[in-house]
Amino acid sequence: MSVDIETVVIGAGVVGLAIAAELAERGQEVLVVERHRTFGTETSSRNSEVIHAGIYYPEGSLRAKLCVEGRERLYAFAVKHNVPVNRCGKLLVATTETEVAQLAAIEAKAVKNGVPDLRRLTSNEVRKLEPDVHCVAATLSPSTGIIDGHAFMAALEARVLNAGGQIAFNSEVTGISVEVGNEFRLIIRSGGDVSELTSARLVNAAGLGASGIGRMIATPNPDYVVPGLFPAKGHYFSLAAKAPFKHLIYPMPSPDALGVHLTLDMSGAARFGPDIYWQDNLDYAFVDPDGRRKAFAREIKRYWPTLPEDALMPAYTGIRPKIYAEGAPAADFEIHGEDKHGIPGFVALYGIESPGLTSSLAIAVYTAQLLD
Ligand SMILES: Cc1cc2nc3c(=O)[nH]c(=O)nc-3n(C[C@H](O)[C@H](O)[C@H](O)COP(=O)(O)OP(=O)(O)OC[C@H]3O[C@@H](n4cnc5c(N)ncnc54)[C@H](O)[C@@H]3O)c2cc1C
Repeated sequence: MSVDIETVVIGAGVVGLAIAAELAERGQEVLVVERHRTFGTETSSRNSEVIHAGIYYPEGSLRAKLCVEGRERLYAFAVKHNVPVNRCGKLLVATTETEVAQLAAIEAKAVKNGVPDLRRLTSNEVRKLEPDVHCVAATLSPSTGIIDGHAFMAALEARVLNAGGQIAFNSEVTGISVEVGNEFRLIIRSGGDVSELTSARLVNAAGLGASGIGRMIATPNPDYVVPGLFPAKGHYFSLAAKAPFKHLIYPMPSPDALGVHLTLDMSGAARFGPDIYWQDNLDYAFVDPDGRRKAFAREIKRYWPTLPEDALMPAYTGIRPKIYAEGAPAADFEIHGEDKHGIPGFVALYGIESPGLTSSLAIAVYTAQLLD
């Protein structure tokens, strides 16, 4: 079989770049195909940039396993490649007595997931760490942190290129067929040009575009169903004032989101979000900023009663690539290899929402093993 390139990775988000770097360093010839003019302009640059500890996810799930493994890989990578990172820790706060029971359940789940370092704090202990936080109790997660997501992706891009990989920007995959001998034939649109490219292996890391890519490919397994996309937008407000916090502050999570939390960026500036707004399109517009500011202020004041409400500024939105509908049970990451769809040399990733950034380096190793 003679193909143009050994492996094509569709998507230059944090996950596609991490996979391409892993494969290139294992000696494969890799090309990343990305529809935008640079890397990471979709979900990978519209998130909270939090390195999650791995606390919340069901025991045995890929989200739990890859988050715990990915977190330690990510801290080590950041130190090695000079990516700004801060293991600042997070406080998960119970603001009512009934929420204290939720803290206990989350702590128990964390231990099962291999996160043994959580510490229960009384309100007095919290006051010593964060005098402005109001709560009746809290759980401290010392291994939660923040990272400069753009710098991380730039370091991944450099890894891809240094290992001999290539990245084609402004190149959108519009069609795929699997030819005899399991060669992948991709139709690629770049500006006004349409070209074809063949590869021996294919990775679908197209994020919000993954379900569309998946449906382009006929599978031999008649029972195989490509997971559908159910976009869920999250809005962020920034704080146009100095935040008095050193830790990230999280309220209790809901089944499909982590709650309107306070995160810090590498300069110490605070932002709040994301909320959850289910929609049937990929529109990033900030919906109802005034109404939303009031709703955010109500949530935030539960743990920060002296929030200067006027300092909340609409900032940006991100869209979670969910693969389950509103109200349905939360889904795990779906990473499908030949055992699922029946096509050798093809791995497809669906539902890579949070903690996808934290997990990216572990997802890359997992994907490389599936391809092998
Ligand atoms: C609001 C929000 C907050 C989050 N917060 C965190 C957090 O704090 N910590 C954490 O660990 N995770 C977080 N996440 C999750 C994390 O951001 C994602 O899991 C991660 O960015 C997914 O990366 P990706 O590479 O899979 O997808 P993307 O970044 O979406 O990349 C996919 C790429 O594929 C390209 N593409 C799509 N279709 C095609 C096509 N046909 N041809 C060519 N290219 C194509 C796109 O242009 C895109 O660049 C958050 C997510 C959201 C939405």
